[in-house]
Amino acid sequence: MLLDDILGHERVREGLKSAAASDTVHHAMLFSGPEGVGKGAVARAFAALAACPNPTASGDACGTCRSCERILSHRPGEETRHPDVLWLSPQSSAVIKIAQVRDLLGIIPYPPLEARVRTVVIEPADTMNVEAANALLKTLEEPPSSTRFILITSRPDALLSTIRSRCQAIHFGRLADEEVERGLRAAGVGPEQARRGAALADGSLGVALERIDDPVLARGDEILGRCVAVRPGDATAALQLAADLADPKDQVPQVLEVLLRFYRDALLLSVDASERVRLTHPHLVDTLLKTVVERLGTEALLYRLALITDTQRAMTSRNIPGVLSLERLLVALLAPPGREGATAIRDR
Ligand SMILES: [Zn+2]
Repeated sequence: MLLDDILGHERVREGLKSAAASDTVHHAMLFSGPEGVGKGAVARAFAALAACPNPTASGDACGTCRSCERILSHRPGEETRHPDVLWLSPQSSAVIKIAQVRDLLGIIPYPPLEARVRTVVIEPADTMNVEAANALLKTLEEPPSSTRFILITSRPDALLSTIRSRCQAIHFGRLADEEVERGLRAAGVGPEQARRGAALADGSLGVALERIDDPVLARGDEILGRCVAVRPGDATAALQLAADLADPKDQVPQVLEVLLRFYRDALLLSVDASERVRLTHPHLVDTLLKTVVERLGTEALLYRLALITDTQRAMTSRNIPGVLSLERLLVALLAPPGREGATAIRDR
């Protein structure tokens, strides 16, 4: 995919194009931002532009020459088919090792073979172990003029500060829901599924694509229907439902995500009944959402949203088992309103 065709990140893409046109590209750049928003795609497209002999009038790579074709066909985790684009990623283990960096450093004193500039991409850069990162430092400080580095990470704080300080920071934000939706449509996902997938993906096309076939998200409406059907205060039914939804137990995080979006929708509706645009479940407005809004009201909904996010946090930070978390959460979520103070389950 060319720079001009990439979803979102317009400021970044235009900035890179104009730096290329004016020959002021920084020798080392750090692409940081959330997982799955397109940092790798931008790095690949920019590497193609650096090597393309026939850039377009808009300042992008042509996309059709042999050089572009070999670079743009690269897939994450593979080596590129262009000798002047080197893509460094963890191989057999989870880290980029010093031997890989040494191999790289053995190549870059030599001029590029075909292109004017060689591009080295390190992804994810935070997987370099300390030895590997230290080996890279010196070169990052004074690389040969014919080599430029692009380090990619979603965890910039995990990099050595000495590495960070030698790079030009280029930040990637989250995509808009409409952009994720467009990306899903382009990947062949149907309109309704794309809309809902985008709403659940937190601005990451990568996350959206990963989750699109997620069985829990596909069953979201059914799960919500069962929750709303529990008679408020019927703790036995709430516990039974929790046991059902926590099987298999690795799906609990997705169940929480579904609940979070649903209660958020309910809160938005309770504040503004005409709200439709920002909802994840607009198709449930006249059914499940209406029931819950009438049953609970704004105050109780706010409390329930906090319960869900607290539960999510407790599960990740304190490793509380999913089944237990979901039981406690559902008993509190499905209690009648007005008992918020009494259900002292918030674990602070
Ligand atoms: Zn080209």
